[in-house]
Amino acid sequence: MYKNIFDTHAHYDDSRFDEDRDKLLSSLYSKGVTNIINCGCDYKSSLTTLALAEKYDFIYAALGVHAHEAEEASEEDLDNIKALYSHKKVVAVGEIGLDYHYDFSPRERQIEVFEKQIILANELGLPIIVHDRESHEDTMNLLKKYRPKGVVHCFSGSVEMAKEVVKLGMYIGLGGAVTFKNARKPIDVAEYLPSDYLLLETDAPYMTPVPFRGQRCDSAHIAYTAEKIAEVKGMDTQELIDKCNENAKRLFRI
Ligand SMILES: [Zn+2]
Repeated sequence: MYKNIFDTHAHYDDSRFDEDRDKLLSSLYSKGVTNIINCGCDYKSSLTTLALAEKYDFIYAALGVHAHEAEEASEEDLDNIKALYSHKKVVAVGEIGLDYHYDFSPRERQIEVFEKQIILANELGLPIIVHDRESHEDTMNLLKKYRPKGVVHCFSGSVEMAKEVVKLGMYIGLGGAVTFKNARKPIDVAEYLPSDYLLLETDAPYMTPVPFRGQRCDSAHIAYTAEKIAEVKGMDTQELIDKCNENAKRLFRI
């Protein structure tokens, strides 16, 4: 049994938790989970994220418009979210970014919305939580241009890209993907990454680590991700979890 687990990326307002959300969240502390950041993806889920953060002491909120929702989101939505950042449980602008795998929104609009939110985060002095899927070049260009604080979540880039992210002083979030059989890239990144720059995450209900792949993910599953990364880095698992908890508290000022 581990303690001190900080899940830096989850979506507990997702409908897949509707049946047992409160029961599950109430059980996580006894499984060693002490902190969770829930991420909004649009105005509606920013509100449900904030409601969870108000209800549970150990849940913090990241609010923003995701790449997938960039087309749907109006300027009014962005303004409405902006008005929520002064809430004391809000610790980041996120999740925001680019997704050229699904291309659910036109790329120009994705970039426009991402860029706006990076500028806003810098103005507010908040870190960002970045989603980058098959959009490494455009993502890195914007990060280099604005140099925000933050984390590239569910990192899928190469070791070379990880080095650039670290050079910018940003963190790298690794989750269930490190346990997948075909996980060469995230394993190489885990091996290289100085532990000061690592954050643990789930992306619950998605990205469930092996041996539970295919089932709904929750924050307690981080134990399997942490064990795999600790093994690769030759570290003690609890030591790694503690280190990542410290990193998250430093970045998100908790
Ligand atoms: Zn997410």
